[in-house]
Amino acid sequence: MDSDCIFCQIVAGDIPANVVAETDDAIAFLDANPLAPGHTLVIPKEHYHRLNDVPDDVAAEVLGLVHEVVPAVEAAVDAPATTVAFNNGEEAGQEVPHVHGHIVPRSGDDGQRP
Ligand code: 5GP
Ligand code: ZN
Repeated sequence: MDSDCIFCQIVAGDIPANVVAETDDAIAFLDANPLAPGHTLVIPKEHYHRLNDVPDDVAAEVLGLVHEVVPAVEAAVDAPATTVAFNNGEEAGQEVPHVHGHIVPRSGDDGQRP
């Protein structure tokens, strides 16, 4: 755990979050500043800065949780589609230095991008 990391603090329960689902090594929770209702983040529980740093087995578990949560998010907010994206590195717009995937409900003409 990186005690300065906001997402590590969420995993530890030190910062509250609306948890959507979790496995042993990954957790999904609602984004605090959603691009659309239902905007969800999926992260490994262990602190890794970028996808490049994540071991194969943890990457598989994170993607498995994305796969599980996408239909649940779409159903929860009645969205016909979702954008799934990782901003991988600061130059790509990554602001929180703990790997996270965005699941953003889309409606076709909403103009949103994560
Ligand atoms: P990034 O720009 O790093 O890809 O996305 C970071 C995301 O984390 C943003 O969508 C932002 O709203 C979200 N976020 C930042 N701080 C918190 C927090 O304390 N709790 C939650 N649930 N989301 C956060
Ligand atoms: Zn962290």
